[in-house]
Amino acid sequence: MSQTNEICEQVKKIYARLDTQLADAAAQCGACGNCCDFEKFGHRLFITSPELLYFKTNIKDLKPMPLGVCPYMQDNKCTAREFRFAGCRIFFCKADEDFQSKLTEQAIRDFKQICDNYQLSYRYTDLKTALNRG
Ligand code: SF4
Ligand code: SF4
Repeated sequence: MSQTNEICEQVKKIYARLDTQLADAAAQCGACGNCCDFEKFGHRLFITSPELLYFKTNIKDLKPMPLGVCPYMQDNKCTAREFRFAGCRIFFCKADEDFQSKLTEQAIRDFKQICDNYQLSYRYTDLKTALNRG
């Protein structure tokens, strides 16, 4: 297995764990898509370098983000759902903030560990900058 594939497998496992941990919070999400319009919603999404590698490997059509809204949101739905970032999975407007912070901290530790294990440079970048950089 190539190093990229190994990293992608590790990222996928972290996402699967997060999805399990967040199943209850997800059940309360109305899937309105408002939180993917960062400018209107008034928040930002940061992503790590292993996640971007995983995303680019799986999403062939990497789109820039000229405005404050994620380019993968169409008709209030995420068109990259399977490969979306940890921040997309963790944030729920009705979920407990402490719980979300703890999951974020753990996920960041895990992504850093992947970087250490595979000598990948660790970057923590806001989504807009990361997508526009390509
Ligand atoms: S990747 Fe999907 S869930 Fe994440 S911000 Fe974009 S549209 Fe929203
Ligand atoms: S977390 Fe909240 S704002 Fe985001 S899609 Fe779900 S209901 Fe809408």
